[in-house]
Amino acid sequence: MRLKDKVAIVTGANSGIGKAIAERFAAEGAHVGVNYRVRGNNAEVAQAIVKSLPTEGIAVAGDVSKREDVERMVAEVVAKFGRLDIAVSNAGMEIKKPFLEVTDDDWNKVLSVNLYGAFLISQVAARQIVKQGPGGKLIFISSVHEDIPFPEYASYCASKGGVRMLMRNLAMELAPYKINCNNIAPGAIATPINQAVLDDPEAKKNALGEIPWGRFGRPEEVASVAVFLASDEADYVTGSTYYIDGGLTQQVTKY
Ligand code: NAP
Repeated sequence: MRLKDKVAIVTGANSGIGKAIAERFAAEGAHVGVNYRVRGNNAEVAQAIVKSLPTEGIAVAGDVSKREDVERMVAEVVAKFGRLDIAVSNAGMEIKKPFLEVTDDDWNKVLSVNLYGAFLISQVAARQIVKQGPGGKLIFISSVHEDIPFPEYASYCASKGGVRMLMRNLAMELAPYKINCNNIAPGAIATPINQAVLDDPEAKKNALGEIPWGRFGRPEEVASVAVFLASDEADYVTGSTYYIDGGLTQQVTKY
């Protein structure tokens, strides 16, 4: 058990990568705050995930782009488990649109969840970790698009590039408190965020053509790296981005 008795919060944990991380953390012995936003049947899904965990968990409702929600989410986890050791900023969204058509609303929505949300959870979690001391782990799920351009996804790329610099700055500023800060940059992972591509044979074929490994990644493959970064084995790892992309970022020239 690599995370025995650690306490974690994972944002956007009712689906995809966040769900896989919450489940893997619990399998490794951590107590997990499973965050979901209030929408559709998310509450029931999050409760069912918590119930299925081998450790004690708690479902915490909240929108990561609202400070009062994020403060309450962390407070609920700390009230139940007495501390917080690990925060995973995973919640994210994207809007595909040609740059010339992007509205202020599109831009602000994506930036407020992906970048402001990452700022909020990392700051609120870090304040708690510093208060309780000593040490902790902040993990951001960024994207290969923290570095690689993606036409028609300007807001998404800007937000993830922002997360890259946020993480690197925090790695410096929080080093005195022994809080490790790292990014995980997934490539194409089979989750609901990619449903449109997965359902469109032509788009899927094109996407697979970009991936040397020849397949989409699985959420569990992202979760394995998150476990490492959350564990004591990664105590000397900070300020790094871990790509999990089947070679996607290696960008072979094809002409
Ligand atoms: P997903 O299944 O759509 O998960 C996204 C999660 O974020 C969902 O639980 C979603 O809630 C939640 N969320 C969105 N806005 C939120 C808000 N304001 N407050 C709280 N939660 C919110 O997709 P995923 O692939 O697992 O995405 C997880 C992260 O990985 C994202 O940051 C994404 O950018 C990143 N990523 C994914 C890929 C990939 O290929 N899948 C690649 C690179 C990076 P709802 O269920 O209500 O929508």
